Amino acid sequence: MTRWASPTRPCPSTAGVRLGGTAELKGRGRGLSLNLDRLVRDCRAVFATGTGPLQPRDAAWVTASGGLTLPPLWQAGEADAEGRTLLVLGGDRTVGTFLRAHPATETRLLVAYPAADAYKVEEIREDPRVTLLPVGHLTLGPGEGASVSAEVAGRSGERRAVVADAAYLSIGNAPTAPPGDLVRGADGYCPPTEQHPRVIVAGDLRSARFQRIMTALGSGGEAALHAYYATREPITES
Ligand SMILES: Cc1cc2nc3c(=O)[nH]c(=O)nc-3n(C[C@H](O)[C@H](O)[C@H](O)COP(=O)(O)OP(=O)(O)OC[C@H]3O[C@@H](n4cnc5c(N)ncnc54)[C@H](O)[C@@H]3O)c2cc1C
Repeated sequence: MTRWASPTRPCPSTAGVRLGGTAELKGRGRGLSLNLDRLVRDCRAVFATGTGPLQPRDAAWVTASGGLTLPPLWQAGEADAEGRTLLVLGGDRTVGTFLRAHPATETRLLVAYPAADAYKVEEIREDPRVTLLPVGHLTLGPGEGASVSAEVAGRSGERRAVVADAAYLSIGNAPTAPPGDLVRGADGYCPPTEQHPRVIVAGDLRSARFQRIMTALGSGGEAALHAYYATREPITES
């Protein structure tokens, strides 16, 4: 695609650059720069960095050490769950997906969820592997050895301590827009129509809606065609 973008002056074919830290997008007139030490004119950049899991620090109902990063539940495999007790923060639908994906796995999921997730946990309520913990606030402790501990304050203020073998997230996702000149909406997503004329946003990064494999594939294909057709039109942007 990058080769089509400028038939007279081939653009560097760069894919899979990890943007972050000092590498970020800059849009300058007809040029784009990815901090690759030079301004690249007449090229286009496609951003499809999707979403990533919200962390404990993003949830007002969780207190945890600031730097704590936990994996999302969907990353837990059978070996991570078999015979173990997992504390799951949040009642997002990935809990149901996990249980259906591992129907024969002997595991115990302690699902701590805020009031806002109450309607989502209905689908897992009857699963014998699940213990639902309606939470007003949860404080994640250090745990002992390989285990994790938490103090759970229920919605009426009652408190209980829980211990598990590991903790996972099911709080939800947030857009992972790379740093730089990508235009973000109030919700953090990057509306395709508001970007630098040479920036194309595809996939889940576009919006909280339509987050499906087929729509991501479609918009990725459209992004490639967009750049291809652009080489056949006179350049009008400045
Ligand atoms: C648990 C789960 C279950 C799902 N089930 C379904 C389903 O059954 N059916 C369905 O249609 N959809 C499902 N989805 C949604 C579907 O997976 C997404 O809509 C789709 O993968 C979005 O594709 P994408 O290319 O936009 O983003 P992603 O697939 O998220 O890819 C983004 C890529 O960008 C990379 N990246 C992130 N930041 C940077 C950076 N700074 N620099 C460089 N690279 C970066 C990431 O490492 C990743 O490889 C599910 C999603 C999840 C999380």
